[in-house]
Amino acid sequence: MADRRRLTILGSTGSVGASTLDVVARHPGKFEVAALTARHRAAALFDQCLKFRPEIAVVLDPDAAQDLRQRLRQAGAACEVRCGMEALEQVAGMPGVDTVMAAIVGIAGLRPTLAAARAGKNILLANKESLVTAGAVLMDAVRASGATLLPIDSEHNAIFQALPRGYAGNAGMAGVRRILLTASGGPFRATPLHQLEEVTPDQACAHPNWVMGRKISVDSATMMNKGLEVIEAHWLFNVRPDQIEVVIHPESVIHSLVEYIDGSMIAQLGNPDMRTPIAHALGFPERIAAGVEFLDLTRVRSLHFERPDRQRFPCLRLAYEALAAGGTAPAALNAANEVAVASFLSGGLGFRQIPALIEAALADHVRAPVTSLDDVLAADHSARASADRWLGAREPAGKGQALRQQAARS
Ligand code: NAD
Ligand code: MG
Repeated sequence: MADRRRLTILGSTGSVGASTLDVVARHPGKFEVAALTARHRAAALFDQCLKFRPEIAVVLDPDAAQDLRQRLRQAGAACEVRCGMEALEQVAGMPGVDTVMAAIVGIAGLRPTLAAARAGKNILLANKESLVTAGAVLMDAVRASGATLLPIDSEHNAIFQALPRGYAGNAGMAGVRRILLTASGGPFRATPLHQLEEVTPDQACAHPNWVMGRKISVDSATMMNKGLEVIEAHWLFNVRPDQIEVVIHPESVIHSLVEYIDGSMIAQLGNPDMRTPIAHALGFPERIAAGVEFLDLTRVRSLHFERPDRQRFPCLRLAYEALAAGGTAPAALNAANEVAVASFLSGGLGFRQIPALIEAALADHVRAPVTSLDDVLAADHSARASADRWLGAREPAGKGQALRQQAARS
């Protein structure tokens, strides 16, 4: 058998992680799983370990690690269980692993992704927050070690496919005029604005086209997800903010486009299923089957496009502003957003207060240049502290909040 690619999958129990294993399972001759990781869902990780037989499993939480260790021993599986952030960094950078799927959610994914970059791995990047918060540091590490970054975010994967092969970050030389990021507009694209006050976490997570983890689902509903993707595109493709345009496309069939100076637009289309970008990056430069349903254009019939409504989606403006401000501003934006989304998901914050909290934290933030990981982590820490202060200083829960808490409990 030809050499199989050895993979570490960071965040294997999540939505992207599970889709990655689904594709991997279709190609037993091509891939071998070296390590799987999760935060605390030991039961899901246990099942994955039995099926994919990794050498190492990592759980962030020590109790969950102990539980997993015992269960694997009882099942007779020879899998070493480690725990903690250092262990995540080790399996991301360990010798013998070629490819690392970075699919942890949030800035929690930054250190392991950076470890993979420093070790020169082939990185399949789903964890957009690591580029948003530490774009300069991560891109420098990739260049210094000779690592490669293949985008998993469906829009960025589409752009990667629509750019010339071997594109090296020079948009002018490649004749690229603009990048168009498509956005579905999420579940509240047409909801009357006054009703947004009372929407529940479950409503926000009911995305019309994609099934995803809860954090990115809320980000899609506020369109902060697209804002983070604008910043991600800036770092990945070395394009200026004014060259990145967001277009609402409710069908999620065109995953993004590149516009060239001769008037050509090159798009990538497909059913909204993350296994397509995952298979593209796993197999690259070859094409491999993904198990997705093929797109029938005669059933799609028509595609729609509109400009995003800035009043409905203030998070998009906040992200462009943070990108323009530069330095630690995107890290502060991300931190405040993570606090706001967690608070919304637990019933503590109204949907429309998410941008209000982020704007307040950004106003508080003292921007600094980013030259190291420590600069990023310091900005993350201080923005979280100011977001927490904002949450603590609000008026006592009113009727809307009581309703939301009820919804969150039910
Ligand atoms: P998810 O919540 O479904 O899964 C997250 C994974 O990360 C889980 O395995 C979880 O155990 C692990 N994790 C969470 N917190 C952790 C922590 N503090 N330390 C270590 N591990 C932790 O998330 P998802 O939807 O799969 O998204 C993962 C990443 O991919 C995000 O950055 C998201 O923006 C990006 N992404 C997701 C999709 C999608 O379709 N789900 C699409 C594009 C990009
Ligand atoms: Mg996306």
